[in-house]
Amino acid sequence: MNAVLEAQIKAVVPALSERINALAESQTLEMAKKARELKAKGVDVISLNLGEPDFQTPQHIKDAAKKAVDDGFTFYTPVSGIPELRKAIAEKLKRDNGLDFKPENIVVSTGAKQSLVNTLMALVNPGDEVIIFAPYWVSYFEMVKMAEGVPVLVHGSLEAEFKVTAEQVKAAITPKTRAILFSSPCNPTGAVFSKEELTDIAQVVAAHDNIFIIADEIYEYINFTGQHFSIGSLDSVKDRTITVNGFSKGFAMTGWRMGYIAAPKWIADACDKMQGQVTSGATSITQKAALAAMTGDLTETKKMSAAYLRRRDLVLGLLKDIKGIKANKPEGAFYIFPDVSYYFGKSYGDYHIKNSYDLCIYLLNEGHVSLVDGGGFGAPNCIRISSAASDENLVEAMRRIKVTLEKLQ
Ligand code: PMP
Ligand code: GLU
Repeated sequence: MNAVLEAQIKAVVPALSERINALAESQTLEMAKKARELKAKGVDVISLNLGEPDFQTPQHIKDAAKKAVDDGFTFYTPVSGIPELRKAIAEKLKRDNGLDFKPENIVVSTGAKQSLVNTLMALVNPGDEVIIFAPYWVSYFEMVKMAEGVPVLVHGSLEAEFKVTAEQVKAAITPKTRAILFSSPCNPTGAVFSKEELTDIAQVVAAHDNIFIIADEIYEYINFTGQHFSIGSLDSVKDRTITVNGFSKGFAMTGWRMGYIAAPKWIADACDKMQGQVTSGATSITQKAALAAMTGDLTETKKMSAAYLRRRDLVLGLLKDIKGIKANKPEGAFYIFPDVSYYFGKSYGDYHIKNSYDLCIYLLNEGHVSLVDGGGFGAPNCIRISSAASDENLVEAMRRIKVTLEKLQ
């Protein structure tokens, strides 16, 4: 296992199961908790840790939820979701993504997090390898472990815009490979895979029976290239791609907890079975809200995406003034993921910076800015800055980061 991650598995309690002891705490949530604790002590912390839109959920979505409550739509729903929502999702996937699915191929879940866990639980046998494109979203690694699989990291470098190539995927495949897993647009790097790049990757996967593609497209609507491509639309891999998506990012609905997969029916059925034993159907009221999101217009979503683009440029511009920082230009999502290794080995007072985790703790306690270290994303030289915050907070946070880093000798 990645040494940084291992170091972050702190709480080993002998009475607990080996499974839970082997699980690392979600770094995003851990950093958010640390920031909250400091704020509770009265410290003015700027939180750029969680990947959470700072916008309100659009009004027509809220209204649909209110109506659902007033209509008494408060009962258990079918495990995979209400028929009208599954139908609306299938229509959206056809219209926007060129994916040909029926409602029976869709499983609606309590967040894309659950969709991912359902999928991995359905496909992965103990010891199966899952190739994860690194840098990766923190939870992938631990989710694969939960399914008793073996995460295999393939790294995209900053110089290559953090994108893993088809050749790298090919080199990582073994007889034990069961799936590849990645997000595009990517959390944490903002990398967006083009149609050509995904076609090359699909070709490599298609040459092997029994390897599946888990394509996390939750940042689909926050894409500054203007072109989102779904790998599952390629004929060569359409029967073995599980497309994961959700409402948290594009519709600013993090707290509503709503995600979905579109997959071959036998996989969708397996996810239904899994979910039926864990949570049952997602919240009835949220499903009505999601239906409004799927069928309503995207004006608010587009406005949010435009704001994220503006903020990306704002943060990148301010980062240029900070010594030693190297950053790529994210093409989607709302994160900046700079390499901060220039500061490793430097000190200020009792702070000795060995890695990006130390740097994040230093920036939190000394600079009062909360970020997430790259270790949990499989990139220990980097830190993640969420730009889903007001311009004012971003400018002030970058000022604090600059002066705090300048103290390190
Ligand atoms: N995938 C990625 C890449 C994410 O950043 C997130 C953010 N939480 C998720 C999945 C899960 O989203 P949610 O459970 O809120 O739908
Ligand atoms: N996906 C977001 C993030 O990466 C939300 C937190 C989480 O679920 O991990 O920060």
